[in-house]
Amino acid sequence: MALLTIHEPGQTPLPHEEERKLAVGIDLGTTNSVVAMSRNEKSEVLRNADGGSAIVPSVVHYATDGTVTVGEDARDLIDSEASQVVSSVKRLMGRGLEDVKSVAGTLPYHVEIPETPTDANAAEPQMVRLNVGNRVLTPVEVSADILRTLKSRAEQALEQDVEQAVITVPAYFDDAARTATKDAAKLAGIEVLRLVNEPTAAALAYGLDNGAEGLYAVYDLGGGTFDISLLKMQKGVFQVKSTGGDAALGGDDFDHVIVETILAARKEQGIVDTIDSSAAKRLLKIARAIKEALTDQDQVDVAVDINDAETTHRVTRADFDAMIAPMIARTVSITEQVLDDADILPEDVKGVVLVGGSTRVPAVREAVASLFEQEPLSNIDPDEVVAVGAALQAEALTGGSDNLLLDVIPLSLGLETMGGIVEKVIDRNTPIPVAKGQEFTTYQDGQSAMMIHVVQGEREMVDQCRSLARFVLSGIPPMAAGAARIRVTFQVDADGLLTVSAREETTGVEQEVAVKPTYGISENDMANMLRDSMVHARDDMELRLLTEARVEARRNILAVQAAMKADVELLDDEDTAAINAAVAELEAAMQGDDRQVINDLAEALDTASRPFAEKRMDRGIRRALAGQNVNNVSP
Ligand code: ADP
Ligand code: MG
Repeated sequence: MALLTIHEPGQTPLPHEEERKLAVGIDLGTTNSVVAMSRNEKSEVLRNADGGSAIVPSVVHYATDGTVTVGEDARDLIDSEASQVVSSVKRLMGRGLEDVKSVAGTLPYHVEIPETPTDANAAEPQMVRLNVGNRVLTPVEVSADILRTLKSRAEQALEQDVEQAVITVPAYFDDAARTATKDAAKLAGIEVLRLVNEPTAAALAYGLDNGAEGLYAVYDLGGGTFDISLLKMQKGVFQVKSTGGDAALGGDDFDHVIVETILAARKEQGIVDTIDSSAAKRLLKIARAIKEALTDQDQVDVAVDINDAETTHRVTRADFDAMIAPMIARTVSITEQVLDDADILPEDVKGVVLVGGSTRVPAVREAVASLFEQEPLSNIDPDEVVAVGAALQAEALTGGSDNLLLDVIPLSLGLETMGGIVEKVIDRNTPIPVAKGQEFTTYQDGQSAMMIHVVQGEREMVDQCRSLARFVLSGIPPMAAGAARIRVTFQVDADGLLTVSAREETTGVEQEVAVKPTYGISENDMANMLRDSMVHARDDMELRLLTEARVEARRNILAVQAAMKADVELLDDEDTAAINAAVAELEAAMQGDDRQVINDLAEALDTASRPFAEKRMDRGIRRALAGQNVNNVSP
């Protein structure tokens, strides 16, 4: 129930002012997209004018005359005009050229990869471009075309302008992919009220935010991707505890295995098929129809005609189940792994939500039910549930309901410090929006600039995390090492997007960057980063301690050498020899990997330089006293 609002006396808005802008929820999927709308916490998916399907295939056709077609009609052209059709563009969102090289071969259109290799740390991300028909497009533009179609579908269904939306993104989408999604919305004339994680939206659709606190699992098997997320619901906040998946496993693979089975049966009948790409696409279409029919039927009969050789085939539910068993088993083992990593037993999970068209397959449901020993929630259509949750969130954000969802950042944000160590500023799973600051100082005397390198990830070392941005805080007045006070503030808005500012507190010198991350991480890498961080936790800690030991040792050497230069007159030959020998030994140890040896030799340097340090201290005291009136000094 929506809460009734009470206004200040005399401030009650006139009825026409109550008319609010409508905001919709959008599931911008890899295979299919859906738009939904919620009123009074009742949501419905929006269909096209003839009341047909709510699903809009995420496929765009670019005709040579400039006409853009999105959805079912574009999908029908995949066979005949493959080079003018873009599908699965979500896989390219926020990706750098390096990642794209690895998927380029699997995409039906040409991906342009420029000659010059891009610098991974370049300030401006190099976006991928697609050659489609006679146009060159970025993934952001293609996504914008899909979003435009969803917007106009909503406007037709609601007979009203729609300018705002909540859009969902996979939980593992990083800053770059989220930024790219927001950019696409902006291009399509949509103001993004909030980006919400897909599993979180699905949980919202089931009202789990109103339900008991606890752990929930969201099992999402779509067209080309599998994602499993564990959500923890506590005090109105959903935390993504753990995610896992396979970016190349989904319903499309079910279609492929049906095609293989049909071709094998034809071969057995002595038919030698040569399959060109148009025949392959036709077969895949037949296979998808068989698969979808088997969700409600026990068997399907089809006729297949390739090069005038016609065969008939009967595929039973049992045949199909056997074909896809290895793929289902893979989703189960990934899920078990994710539970295991998070130290959670299947019976600790309070509810399981099914998402994605492929969870309609009965064998998939059975596998999930038996893994979690409970019936999964499934009374909302699995291909609509994410959009429904997004619509509820859109209503909450515009309708002033207090039912606001808090989301969390998926991966920790931090800064590079000396020696390539990551200092985390905001930890993973911190509810957003959030702002956090941390103070840093300079490393060398007179240091006038500082490189601020922002990274995202769970690992201890910079090169194992994702580099998001670099900027230089310059104009720091010359001070002794350690005297400057540089406050670096990280601000993450409700969409998970980051702004970093740095300020030298004693002088007020300040710089700020909105983090436009370097586009360059693969979907699997992202999901793996989380798991890696757990697997490598111990090695990482060891490496971190070693690096810290080296940094500390270097700091000691620099300090001693600076003092030797400054107070050369206090040094005798014996001191100099002892210190230089200790420095040389320590430097040699710093080349090695033994943290204990480095620490011991740093100690030794300290001991060797003690006589010199004492002389400096004595002189310091004498100097301090030198300004005093003789009378004030006791004899
Ligand atoms: P995505 O999230 O990847 O954009 P969806 O969640 O819409 O995609 O899932 C699309 C997949 O679901 C396709 O492989 C499609 O064939 C499959 N699918 C849709 N309906 C059914 C059904 N009734 N039975 C089996 N699979 C289905
Ligand atoms: Mg989906």
